Amino acid sequence: MADSLEILTVGAQEAGIVIVGSGLAAVCALEAMREAGYVGQVTMIGEERQMPYDRPPLSKQVLKEPGAEARIDLRDAAIFDTPATRLRRGRCVAEIDARQRRVVLDDGAVVGYTKLLLATGSRPRVLPGLPPAGAGVFYLRTLDDAVALRGALKSATSLAVVGGGVIGLEVAATAVALGVETTVIEASPRLMSRAACPQLSEVLEEEHRSRGVRVLCGATPSAFDFSGNRHTILWSDGRTLEVDMVLVGVGVTPEFDLAERCGIKCAPEGIVVDGFGATSIPGVYAAGEVAFHYNGRVACHQRQENWHHAAAHGRHVGASMIEPGAVYQEICGYWSDQYDLNIQVFGAVTGDEHVVRGDLSARRFAVFHLAAGVVVGITAVNSPSDLRRGKKLVREGSSLEPEIESIVRA
Ligand code: NAD
Repeated sequence: MADSLEILTVGAQEAGIVIVGSGLAAVCALEAMREAGYVGQVTMIGEERQMPYDRPPLSKQVLKEPGAEARIDLRDAAIFDTPATRLRRGRCVAEIDARQRRVVLDDGAVVGYTKLLLATGSRPRVLPGLPPAGAGVFYLRTLDDAVALRGALKSATSLAVVGGGVIGLEVAATAVALGVETTVIEASPRLMSRAACPQLSEVLEEEHRSRGVRVLCGATPSAFDFSGNRHTILWSDGRTLEVDMVLVGVGVTPEFDLAERCGIKCAPEGIVVDGFGATSIPGVYAAGEVAFHYNGRVACHQRQENWHHAAAHGRHVGASMIEPGAVYQEICGYWSDQYDLNIQVFGAVTGDEHVVRGDLSARRFAVFHLAAGVVVGITAVNSPSDLRRGKKLVREGSSLEPEIESIVRA
């Protein structure tokens, strides 16, 4: 149940820091502020009614196992309920008044701030023709989405997954294991092309096919039709596919409308922030997936969509709001579990050379990604020792010196 929120009109001095969002970046920022010595008031305002929870299990354990949601709390509830910390759940910030340093909530409450952190994350990209509220149409971003999808999969006979990215493939792996006839429809020529190297895409396609998933790459549907509780997906060449439910996982967009409306500088990639998370408006910061942030290691702005960055950037910006130190320079990665494949990626998967160690067909291998002779990333499948070695090489920015070359090419 959403907390009821009394109308607060408090001066900025009493209000302290306001954090908009209650996801991973928000929670890590709160902890970093406290670790940096801030003892003043923090008000966290989160749109979701649940206590802050971890998202990676949503497309994994929570889909498979009823009750798994009881084990995904990000932190003990006590840290959000102290004399100096308040968490407002089930509430949205409707407006930022940066001149007066206050935010207005969707129920009209006004909360003043000394500093404001926007950690609003991303929202799923909606496919025209398949709006989220449609019968038999599912998106997966929140715990409520995951529980609804789990319930529907129990009685489904056929599923079309539109989007062969991380979400789509994790859902497909679970659905086919439940005996649901599953088809993955991916617009680009290979699976997980945003976040995976071609070698990993190839292995994933083989693995999904071998488990019984129908994989259609380079296949953008031209229309969707719903009648008689069945979805028909149509292609311009006349092909059709009929299923009883559809999961849409075609990517996410940063949730920056609120910031843009109050005049904060934004780019298509998100809220523009410097190496400390500061936006174009004094006293307002942004962290996590919503931030188009400066990373000192690559000396440019980037947007990262992964758990690792949300945690690291949240921590960095939270600490910087209290006591700025060094510019953000984290190298990030992500993981995915599909069937018995544990996929771990660290650093960049681009580059001009990709050196494979191990055996792709045995599903135990690593790909070292090199740019101009420097190791910039590692993809490891069921290979934790290669991952450890690769991370070290990436962090050190190692070039292919003979001894490193012998490790990488061994
Ligand atoms: P994604 O960007 O990984 O994949 C989206 C896929 O949809 C792309 O491959 C794209 O080519 C395809 N696509 C786009 N439009 C399409 C269309 N019209 N028809 C067919 N295919 C289309 O995004 P996602 O899988 O939706 O994941 C969303 C977010 O969740 C990401 O930020 C991701 O990092 C995060 N996530 C992370 C993990 C993890 O770290 N393990 C797991 C799940 C999700």
